[in-house]
Amino acid sequence: MICISTRGQAPAVPFREAVASGLAPDGGLYVPATLARQPDAWWQSLRGAPFPDVAVAMAQALLGDEFERAELEALVREALSFPVPVVRLDDRLQVVELFHGPTFAFKDFGARTLARLLALGERGVAAGDGIRVEGLTVLVATSGDTGSAVAQAFYGVPHTRVVVLYPEGQVSRVQEAQFTTLGRNVTAVAVDGTFDDCQRLAKAAFADAALGARLRLTSANSISLGRLVPQMFYYAFAALQAPASARIICSVPSGNFGNLAAGVMAWRMGVPIDRFVAATNVNDTVPRYLDTGVYQPRPSVATIANAMDVGAPSNFERLQWLFGGDLAAMRAMISATVHTDAEVRHAIGELHRRYGYVADPHTAIAYLGTQALEHPSPPAPQHLFLSTAHPAKFADVVEPAIGGAVELPGPLAAALTREQFVTRIGGTLDELAAILEA
Ligand SMILES: *Cc1c(COP(=O)(O)O)cnc(C)c1O
Repeated sequence: MICISTRGQAPAVPFREAVASGLAPDGGLYVPATLARQPDAWWQSLRGAPFPDVAVAMAQALLGDEFERAELEALVREALSFPVPVVRLDDRLQVVELFHGPTFAFKDFGARTLARLLALGERGVAAGDGIRVEGLTVLVATSGDTGSAVAQAFYGVPHTRVVVLYPEGQVSRVQEAQFTTLGRNVTAVAVDGTFDDCQRLAKAAFADAALGARLRLTSANSISLGRLVPQMFYYAFAALQAPASARIICSVPSGNFGNLAAGVMAWRMGVPIDRFVAATNVNDTVPRYLDTGVYQPRPSVATIANAMDVGAPSNFERLQWLFGGDLAAMRAMISATVHTDAEVRHAIGELHRRYGYVADPHTAIAYLGTQALEHPSPPAPQHLFLSTAHPAKFADVVEPAIGGAVELPGPLAAALTREQFVTRIGGTLDELAAILEA
C-alpha cells in the first residue's frame, strides 16, 4: 500500500515505512495514495463472514503487496482475537460493541495491531544490518483510553518503551489505573494541562530534530496510519451483517476523528455504508466546520465523555484529504451532531429503560447521533452505532444514570488495587525530553 502525506510535500512510502515513522516528514499525516474499490462480488463473498475472516480479507487486499500472506494473516488474527458483537436493540437499531479487547475500549484494535507491526519492523532492523537494536520509544498522548490500550499492547515487548502523556485529573480513576500501574517498560506522565496540551507536547517532541537524532521515537496516536487500518475492518464486518438491500447509517462517537477517518476509508473501499454521523460532545470543532465551512479549533472542554474531549482533532486533516478538501462532498457523506453532558446522561438512562442496554457515555453519544437524521423516503435505514468503551470504565457517570450498579470486569478491578507509578510535569518540552532520555 503506497502512502502519501496529506500535505503533499513528502515522498511516497510503503505502508511499513509510514507506520515506522508515524508522522510524515512534511508534518502531514500518511494516507493511502489510493483506496481501490473492491468489486461487489468480493464484498458479497464476505457477507455474514466472521469478524476475523473479514479482517484478514481486507488486510490482504490493502497490505498484501508488503507482507507475506501467512505472516499478515497471523498478525491480524492475533492482534484482533476478541469478539465484535453486533447487538440488535430493535428493528432499526444495532450497536456494534468494540470494547471486548484487553483494555475494554475500541482502541485495542489499533494499538494491538500497531504494536505487532512495529515489532515486525524491529526484526527487520535487527536482521537487516546486524546493528544492535537500541530500542524504540513509543510516545503517546491520551485523553483516557489510548494510554491503556497502547501501554497494554507494548507491555513487556523487548526493545520497546512506552511513555504515556495524560492530562492530570481529567481521566477516570479506572482509566488512570490501567496505565499507571504497569511499570516495567511503561512510563506514565501526568501533564498539568488538557489533552490538547499533551498532544501538542507529543507533536513538539516528534518535530524536535535533536531529540529525534538521539532517540528512536515513534507515535502510537491515531496520527499513525497503522492504527487506522485495523479500524476499517469492523465497519465492513458490521455493515455486511445487514441484508444487501439495507441502507446503513453509521453513527461514530468522535473526538480525534481517527475512527471516522477509518470508516470513510472503508467506505471508499466499497463497504456498503450510506452515511456517517459524526457525533461529538460539546467539543464541536468538526460539526462547526460542517455547518459553517470554517475550521476553527478551540481549547478542549472537559466532559463526561472524556476520550472525546478534543478541541483540535488531529485526524481532521485526513478527513479533509479523503474528500479532496471539498466541503460539499464531505457534507454529502457526513452529518454531525453535538451533545451536552445532560443529554448524554439522559440517553444512558433511556437506553437502559427502553432496551435494557447499559452504555458508557461515548456510546450514548453515538446513540444520540442515530436520532439526528430525518429520512422521509423509504426504506427506513438501519442505524448502526459504535460502542467504544465498556460502561464499567465510566461507572461514576453510568451508575447514577441507570440507578443501578455496573459490574467491574476482573482485570479492571485488579488494576484499581495496584500501586501507581506517575511522573508529573508542567508541560514543557524540556521536562518531557528529560524523561524520554532518562
Ligand atoms: C478515543 C475514543 C473515542 C474517540 O475516537 P476518535 O478516533 O478519537 O474520534 C470515542 N470513544 C472512546 C471510548 C474512546 O476511547
